[in-house]
Amino acid sequence: MSTNEQLFDRAQKVIPGGVNSPVRAFRAVGGTPRFIARGEGAWIVDAEGRRYVDYIGSWGPMILGHGHPAVLEAVLKAARDGFSFGAPTEREVELAEEIIRHVPSVEQVRLVSSGTEACMSAIRLARAATGRSRLIKFEGCYHGHADALLVKAGSGLATFGHPTSAGVPPEVVQHTTVLDFNNIQQLEEAFAAYGDELACVIIEPIAGNMNFVRTSESFMAWLRELCYKHGALLIMDEVMTGFRVALGGAQSLYAQRMQGFVPDISVFGKVIGGGMPLAAFGASRTIMAQLAPLGPAYQAGTLSGNPVATACGLATLHEIAKPGFHEALGERTRELVDGLKAEADAAGIPLAVDSEGGLFGFFFADALPHDYASAVAVDKERFNRFFHAMLDAGVYFAPALYEAGFVSAAHGQAEIEHTLKAARAAFTALR
Ligand code: PLP
Repeated sequence: MSTNEQLFDRAQKVIPGGVNSPVRAFRAVGGTPRFIARGEGAWIVDAEGRRYVDYIGSWGPMILGHGHPAVLEAVLKAARDGFSFGAPTEREVELAEEIIRHVPSVEQVRLVSSGTEACMSAIRLARAATGRSRLIKFEGCYHGHADALLVKAGSGLATFGHPTSAGVPPEVVQHTTVLDFNNIQQLEEAFAAYGDELACVIIEPIAGNMNFVRTSESFMAWLRELCYKHGALLIMDEVMTGFRVALGGAQSLYAQRMQGFVPDISVFGKVIGGGMPLAAFGASRTIMAQLAPLGPAYQAGTLSGNPVATACGLATLHEIAKPGFHEALGERTRELVDGLKAEADAAGIPLAVDSEGGLFGFFFADALPHDYASAVAVDKERFNRFFHAMLDAGVYFAPALYEAGFVSAAHGQAEIEHTLKAARAAFTALR
């Protein structure tokens, strides 16, 4: 037995499925998960000393790669000063200021410890602010594993073939309506039927939990308009896209194309913690005034605004706010996906690719998908063989085809070349 196999064997005895988050178990692609011993820049090293170019980056947070010196120094310094106090610290104010500086739609934020918590709290906030209960989400979008949001929620659930999790009582999701992503007609019908009961609509502005699927501009414009018209709040879940597709998140890209475009509530996670458990939700001061201790909506957390996590997040945001950061990250990511496409074309394998900033997707299909049904109608068998060929060649893509990919600033020419060389051989073997 290899060291990874031994570790997985041990893990399965004491942890359900051997993992602390389902996708890590390699169920979709088969084989043994790699137990990671350490990360170095764009690379991760497994328990057997094998090195892989890392396109997961902890599923998004590691936008600077592993062990960035300035971030590491900030974390070590903060840890020396104390792990947690359960009292306010200056650094959480600085982090809140930094988030707000880059996201004009947000006047105040509350810091929490995970994207799940942030989305769950954003929904509570929207319900408190509107006095309404119903919410709309879209099939294939994942907003964490809070009960009311765990309906047709993409990636993790799709991998295991459960549209909705067991253990979620029907009464808990009776106020949740699920619509098809990018479907304007369904949207209009839903608003016509119960627009005036709607507290909010929550959406991933570029869905990263059904691989990589953009919203059409007309869909987003219409969604924004309908929410205004019916007094429902538009929640943008930027846990994945925030500070990654652009410094101001996906909402800044919409604002460039649609004058005055803003969501009502924004949710952030991943990058803002730089690899530590940290997330946030934010909105205008008026909406945020609903939250305790100011207002009637309760929300709290023992480790919220944790000093070590905020140090990590702040140091990360300082690095990525440097001029040209996202342009360079976007170019590198584009180079990767264009390279993958060129190699697939040369091998005669249908592949559709897309990217924005440091987020990308590739599909074994002729065209890019526009909703969940088209995102999952790809050649799974081909993806699985490709995944394993790449892993064997030292390239670590997500072990499930419903997931987006992540490039960091530490990915350089050498890593892209290594990846494309491996892809050439993998695509050729797929013919
Ligand atoms: N929202 C989106 C868009 C996500 O991608 C995720 C996690 O992948 C979450 C929310 C939940 O975040 P967390 O895993 O930190 O609870």
